[in-house]
Amino acid sequence: MATIFEMIINGDIPSTKLYEDDLCIAILDINPVNKGHALVISKECYPTFTDAPIETLSHMMEIARRIDQKQREALKADGTNIMINNSPASGQEVPHLHIHVIPRKEGDGKTPVMPKGKYEDGEAAEYGELLKL
Ligand code: AMP
Repeated sequence: MATIFEMIINGDIPSTKLYEDDLCIAILDINPVNKGHALVISKECYPTFTDAPIETLSHMMEIARRIDQKQREALKADGTNIMINNSPASGQEVPHLHIHVIPRKEGDGKTPVMPKGKYEDGEAAEYGELLKL
């Protein structure tokens, strides 16, 4: 079954389009964290970030950076959150690669986007060993 983003790319359902090229489109998120919240969506349906070729990811990051700049200029955003929910366990609802670019204002009350935890004694070293590249 086609994802909602494939339907948008195919023009079967409407969207507010900000940008389009051969590799990706950018649209407004229908339920924005803040108004102007944009999604950069791959044209090919890669279910997750992990599935996509690096050339596509790097191109999409460049478009995300241009949207970040536009949000700072046109919306006077003080900052942005640029994030990818990667697989359902992370909160990914639509299994089709997309980058969120969320405009942020000082004191907009949306912080923290990521709740913070902490390590017990010695745990950071253990995780550091597990994750060394
Ligand atoms: P994620 O949880 O990272 O998969 O994000 C999916 C995003 O897609 C959510 O922020 C939704 O609000 C957004 N979304 C879902 N349907 C639409 C739609 N028809 N047009 C624009 N954004 C959508």
